[in-house]
Amino acid sequence: MTQTLLAEPEALLPSLNDESSTGRGHRPLFASKVSIAAPSLPPAEEVLEAFRALLAGSQLTNGCTVARFEQEAARFLGVPDCVAVSSCTSGLMLVERCLGLTGEVILPSFTFFATGHSLLWNGLESVLVDSDPADFNMDPEQVESAITPRTSAILAVHVFGCPARVEALEELARRHGLRLIFDGAHAFGSAVDNRGVAQWGDATVFSLSPTKLLVAGEGGLIAVADPELAGKLRQARNYGKGATYDCEILGLNARMTEIQAALALLGLPYLAQNLRRRNDLAAIYDRYFEPAWGLTTQHVAPPLLSTYKDFAVLVDPARSGICRDELEAVLSSDNVEVRRYFDPPLHRQKLYRRCGGPSSAGFAAAERLSRQVLCLPLHGGLDGDTVATIAKRVVSLARPAETAMAAPACFA
Ligand SMILES: *Cc1c(COP(=O)(O)O)cnc(C)c1O
Repeated sequence: MTQTLLAEPEALLPSLNDESSTGRGHRPLFASKVSIAAPSLPPAEEVLEAFRALLAGSQLTNGCTVARFEQEAARFLGVPDCVAVSSCTSGLMLVERCLGLTGEVILPSFTFFATGHSLLWNGLESVLVDSDPADFNMDPEQVESAITPRTSAILAVHVFGCPARVEALEELARRHGLRLIFDGAHAFGSAVDNRGVAQWGDATVFSLSPTKLLVAGEGGLIAVADPELAGKLRQARNYGKGATYDCEILGLNARMTEIQAALALLGLPYLAQNLRRRNDLAAIYDRYFEPAWGLTTQHVAPPLLSTYKDFAVLVDPARSGICRDELEAVLSSDNVEVRRYFDPPLHRQKLYRRCGGPSSAGFAAAERLSRQVLCLPLHGGLDGDTVATIAKRVVSLARPAETAMAAPACFA
């Protein structure tokens, strides 16, 4: 199938060596910028009507819109309760605090730094482990070998929306008496066997910032099963204030405003449609890319459902004859917005260099992912033709291994 596509004349675009592709007088593939992401927002009239109603009242925070959003989101996710907060970062910080974590917490090196920052804010030790290069998620075997008597929790991430190994991680946590928290920033709508990912673990924290699936402007949402933990989190997001003025928990102001909750609440009914669209577009990219040409994509197969918060292609220079950074430069000059993620991975960042876990030789997958991942445009406003045009461009720049000449500089 992909072979046929490659043979199409449009696929025979100028190669990298051709002056016209990078040199002066380069005619970009697109006349105007194709954005990598765009916030999926409900229709403006619906939003304005809700905002007007809120402004007519006097309750801008601690009100019933937040409570309604929490209920509807819990129903959507299939969990007993949700607690809305100001961001995913503050949500993670409060979950770790309310669960009383101590000592070491195991997390992947290949993640966004906010995952790790939440631990540092709590004075917890980050123990970084490697990921699986196929699905980009934390490898449960590596997690197990990183467990020590000082470990109190596992903090897993559903990278780019692809569900982490929820069953294996839950089994591990149970067997070792550890807490299990998921950074679900990318995963509002991700599922395993038709069950929302938040149905695993002690808590899952979602982000509602503009590049994530459900948008509140800024915001976070904690899905929890335990009512006692939910109660603690509701106090903790409000400075820690309980029934009296005398706080028992060290909290934050991590409240979500009524305005933010109204926006997220209105977005919920559009989420399923957006998810389908993103999956359809991801399938188009997937049809074009072939590992034999050094173009591999994140492995997501049923029963896993990903949100494709990001669509990533792994560019292997040994096979494709092109480095990720070169591809990034060409696509940028083509008006295609692309992004590297997560580069550098946590084990090479200043704040985390002294953290435990394997030596840097033990981060083979995180190293490879951070050097080879390039995220391509994917959002609900894109059409299939645009995605196909970008995919063909990428394929045309990669040379099948058998025709590869000198290895590119990045491979040396
Ligand atoms: C975006 C993101 C966060 C932080 O979310 P905020 O709502 O901005 O705090 C945390 N973890 C991951 C993996 C993210 O991508």
